[in-house]
Amino acid sequence: MRLCIGGIVEPGTTLANKTGGWRSFKPEYHYERCTKCGLCELLCPESCVARGDEGYYEIDYDYCKGCGICAHECPTGTIEMVLEVK
Ligand code: SF4
Ligand code: SF4
Repeated sequence: MRLCIGGIVEPGTTLANKTGGWRSFKPEYHYERCTKCGLCELLCPESCVARGDEGYYEIDYDYCKGCGICAHECPTGTIEMVLEVK
């Protein structure tokens, strides 16, 4: 049996591949509830959440695929998934 050669991804290509266009839902922060615990940054599979100047977390929407993990895991309900409008 012959196996097909799988796809080869060059290192660093995910930076060029902006996955935000796949999104149906978009996470939005309600900062008044945020305790700055950092879980959203830690658990985001795209690493597109980063701490901003005031200590609150921000999303780089170019790479957010809208999976909703951040909203699901946030202990204070700070993040709401809303329908993406394009
Ligand atoms: S997980 Fe929720 S409470 Fe914690 S930093 Fe993120 S948005 Fe704020
Ligand atoms: S929706 Fe998913 S990809 Fe987007 S910021 Fe939250 S955890 Fe990351």
